[in-house]
This record gives sequence, structure tokens and C-alpha cells, in this order.
Amino acid sequence: MDAKEIGCRVESFHIPPQVTLIAVSKRKPIEFIRAAYTAGLRDFGENYIQDAVPKIQALQGYEGIRWHFIGHLQSNKSKLAAQHFDVIQTVDSGKLAKKINAECQKLKKKIDILVEVNIGNEPQKAGVQVGELDSILAQISRLDCLQLKGLMCIPPNDAVSDVYFKHMQEIFALYQKKYALTELSMGMSSDFQAAIEYGATMVRIGTALFGPRE
Ligand SMILES: *Cc1c(COP(=O)(O)O)cnc(C)c1O
Repeated sequence: MDAKEIGCRVESFHIPPQVTLIAVSKRKPIEFIRAAYTAGLRDFGENYIQDAVPKIQALQGYEGIRWHFIGHLQSNKSKLAAQHFDVIQTVDSGKLAKKINAECQKLKKKIDILVEVNIGNEPQKAGVQVGELDSILAQISRLDCLQLKGLMCIPPNDAVSDVYFKHMQEIFALYQKKYALTELSMGMSSDFQAAIEYGATMVRIGTALFGPRE
């Protein structure tokens, strides 16, 4: 995989204009991100704070670039996340939301927030249970530095995603008006087309863009 090939791959994605393609650059070198940026992408997703910070700093002058945190956020990393990211997609508790909000207050910064939903109800997985979602959304909407934008999910990886995407679409419709939500982040390399059919406004694509990760 080289820069030129990444450019071709970016052009080969057919995604409706209202859907944001988030290039998941975790464990990929900075040249890959530069190539994707040159090909027109502006939104990048990273999972590990320590890996992401040097990349974000190196690309600070890149106009319009937006960094999405899509990994599991430990609360002791919320300061770094608040400092360096534009969007945190994986908020899954009121406690974590408060921590991020406190860091953003110190930084005099507002940050976009998505709430991660444990749509497959998997005990080992992060994310809010569907039954807790309303109360967490209500909590977040009261925090002044957090701009609540929407929901994200990672469906179980051994199953066909459609049924989970459909459920997410229903849940999103339930809370969309009440909390003025605009973003539904779901779909990865293998299932983003289905996700778009079920209303995804953000798809998170790693492998299909940058090749397999070691
Ligand atoms: C790694 C990752 C992706 C991208 O997965 P691919 O299958 O490589 O496209 C998307 N979302 C999250 C949360 C991830 O961790």
C-alpha cells in the first residue's frame, strides 16, 4: 500500500454526499493520512490516544482536518482526548462525560460527543445499554462544553450487522428530535453499505482504505 494507491481507493468509494467517510488511521503511518487528506478526506479516526497525539500534532496545519476518537476511553485519558480530538464517539457513561466536560471547561473548548450504544448487548463490550440511553443523553445534554451530536455502535463481529443497524436506526429515530441528534456513526469496511441503507451519517473505514493492519 502506498500513497498513490490510497488516493485511488479514496476515489473508488461511492458514498452519498450527506454521509461522512471517517478514515480510520489507527496503527497506520502518517504518510497514509497525508495521502488520504490530499485525496480529499478530512475526517480521521483513531483508537489509541498515545498513538494518535503525535499524528495529530504533526498535521496541525492541515486545514479542516477533524479527529474522531473511536476507541475505548479510559477516564485518566480524558484530558488528552479533550485536548487533541474534535469528536469523541465512544462516551458510554455519565461519569466519563462529566470528566471530559471538566477538561473542556479548563481548555475553554467545546467538543462533539457521540454516545456508544452496546447494540448487541454483549457483556464484554463497551457502550451504553439501550435501556440506559435516555438518561445518559439527558445528562450529557446538560453539560455546557459537550455538544451532543448522536450515537455510534460496533455490532457483534460474528454476526450479520443488518439487524443491529436496523435496531440502531429505530433507537436513533426515538431520540433524534428530543436531543436534536444529527449523527449516526455505524458501518466499517465490511458493512458500511448496509449501514448507509439504515441511515448511517458517518461510516468508519480502515482496512478498505489503508489495507490490513498488522
Ligand atoms: C478499527 C475500527 C474501525 C475500522 O475497521 P475496518 O474494518 O478496518 O474498516 C471502525 N470503527 C472502530 C470503532 C474501529 O475500532
